[in-house]
Amino acid sequence: MRFKDNVAIVTGGSRGIGRAIVEGLAQNGATVIFTYKSSKDSAERFAAEHNSYGNKVEAIQHDASDTEGANRLVEYVVKTYGGVDFLVNNAGITRDQLLIRMSETDWDFVITNNLKGVYNLSKAVLRPMMGKRYGKIVNISSVVGLVGNAGQTNYAAAKAGILGFTKALAREVASRNIGVNAIAPGFIETDLTGNLTDDQRQKLHEQIPLKRLGKTDDVARVVCFLCSTDADYMTGQVLCVDGGMVMS
Ligand code: NAP
Repeated sequence: MRFKDNVAIVTGGSRGIGRAIVEGLAQNGATVIFTYKSSKDSAERFAAEHNSYGNKVEAIQHDASDTEGANRLVEYVVKTYGGVDFLVNNAGITRDQLLIRMSETDWDFVITNNLKGVYNLSKAVLRPMMGKRYGKIVNISSVVGLVGNAGQTNYAAAKAGILGFTKALAREVASRNIGVNAIAPGFIETDLTGNLTDDQRQKLHEQIPLKRLGKTDDVARVVCFLCSTDADYMTGQVLCVDGGMVMS
């Protein structure tokens, strides 16, 4: 129950990695407000399951690309729960295509949802975190933001942008005792990777020293570490959770 006095916002918590992050933080006692874009029924069912065990978990519809909505969300959380200690910017989408065929719409959609979404909520939580002189922001990037991937120029640009954002913001707010770090997952078993064929899976295993795709809990545990006091002397860092795919 190391987070029993903490309030967390997790974006994109209804499925996949975000869902495991919500569970990890809630199991450690945190009050968790998570966002989703469209899966209202399953998000509310998931929140209710946790509430019935005594944890405060609330699902709120919020589109990561909505700047005003981000301000309203944080105002609501501060008013209802007394503050925000952790922000996990996890929501993300892909619109893959080789650049030569990539539409401007798909470029803008990925940059707006994946990168501007991080700007929107990070900016909105800064005032309450600065006031409290405490906070942890964890941004979910990707190894694709470090090494690139053919067919994902939009996604790679957004995820690399998140890494630059993380380091710049870490420098801006370190004196206020706010830690800002990023996680770069490799290939994790979720809806995003659910369509892989056996052949594609086999080829992936060949690139992964640990010879398996990651589980959502593998990422959630590192998020919990970065939110904990164990990580108090870390800021501006990028942790790869990728079975050893990318070694620096
Ligand atoms: P996922 O299973 O597709 O789930 C995406 C989550 O984000 C859902 O909760 C979805 O809500 C929400 N979401 C999507 N667009 C949103 C928006 N505009 N506003 C608010 N919420 C939105 O994805 P995932 O695989 O868990 O990925 C989570 C994060 O990890 C992403 O940032 C992704 O880029 C990153 N990542 C994933 C992998 C991987 O292998 N899976 C690898 C590296 C990095 P709804 O349920 O309502 O649609």
